[in-house]
Amino acid sequence: MKFNSLVIHGGIDGDKHTGSVTVPIYQTSTYSQEKVGQHKGYEYSRTGNPTREAAEKLIADLEGGYRGFAFGSGMAAISSVLMLFQSGDHIIFSDDVYGGTFRVVDKIFKNLGLEYSFVDTSDLDNITKHLKSNTKAIYIETPTNPLMKLTDIQGASVIAKENNLLLIVDNTFMTPYLQRPIALGADIVLHSATKYLGGHSDLVAGLVVVSNEGLANRMHFIQNAVGAILGPFDSWLLIKGIRTLAVRMDRHCENAKKIADWLTQQSWVKKVYYPGHGANPIKDQMRDYGGMISFELSDETHVEKLLSNLQTITLAESLGGVESLISVPAQMTHASIPPEIRERLGISNTLVRLSVGIEDVEDIIADLNLSDQ
Ligand SMILES: *Cc1c(COP(=O)(O)O)cnc(C)c1O
Repeated sequence: MKFNSLVIHGGIDGDKHTGSVTVPIYQTSTYSQEKVGQHKGYEYSRTGNPTREAAEKLIADLEGGYRGFAFGSGMAAISSVLMLFQSGDHIIFSDDVYGGTFRVVDKIFKNLGLEYSFVDTSDLDNITKHLKSNTKAIYIETPTNPLMKLTDIQGASVIAKENNLLLIVDNTFMTPYLQRPIALGADIVLHSATKYLGGHSDLVAGLVVVSNEGLANRMHFIQNAVGAILGPFDSWLLIKGIRTLAVRMDRHCENAKKIADWLTQQSWVKKVYYPGHGANPIKDQMRDYGGMISFELSDETHVEKLLSNLQTITLAESLGGVESLISVPAQMTHASIPPEIRERLGISNTLVRLSVGIEDVEDIIADLNLSDQ
């Protein structure tokens, strides 16, 4: 099945008992057993739930992986993946990963003995330079949040394979519609499904897809042992969101392209970060450039002016919903990164991040047009 059909029919398509075209919400904690240990495949909903399983099979189909896992948030998914490692293991991370990823590594997993380096993975030499005898994984985001740096997934996978490391990719910004890391050599793909996959700003969820049976068994053990699962209703809501992923992403991409081009022509915009701009051979790993744009305004008064005149766009954290959302990363999503590190990364106080929604693009541009106001 091709991708547009797979988002509609992938995973578990409907319900064979009743003919219902959507997967039922199995709002149950436990399952009756005929005899001790004799059951229909489900014992307890932390271990397995049919609605969650439908969401998990769907994301595994879309990412082209071996098995999927659904968690209560993106951070629960990320934390569960990091539990694959042990005290004394070392992981190389992209340096401008999602702020919450930096925080959980630096404030929680560090205390459990995890060693780490945050490096600019857009230059693969930085990965090679930071390899240590105890390095066990490379963890990348591409494009990164909020500066849209690209990392060559296939190139990183070659380094990973040569050194017996796992390659983990946070694919939240792209979704499997635009980028499929497992086909490029990644071992684990993860998502904040709160964003484009859910797509309607009505859900917090996380997903993990692994490429082989061994990893699947280890991830399922962690999911069941730690228990950071996604509930049945939210699993159903997530499936409902994913069914329209392809059509939504097309519009996000189309609108973002127009807005990014328009922004480059405005005198009060100092710099535009958009993966579709500029000549970068790594762009070929993506089918299109997504709905995220960051831009630097010429001074802080422009930031205030921009945020005080919004009609269509909402000032809010998060991204990937049908509605356009704008944020100031230094004060919002990335506030947990120390100021000196933010400065070095280029996340200044005049940097604004826009999650382009699927409204009429003229309305979004009207909100951004400072020369009109
Ligand atoms: C939002 C986000 C996360 C965290 O996900 P939650 O669902 O908020 O827990 C992780 N990675 C990226 C790239 C994100 O945008």
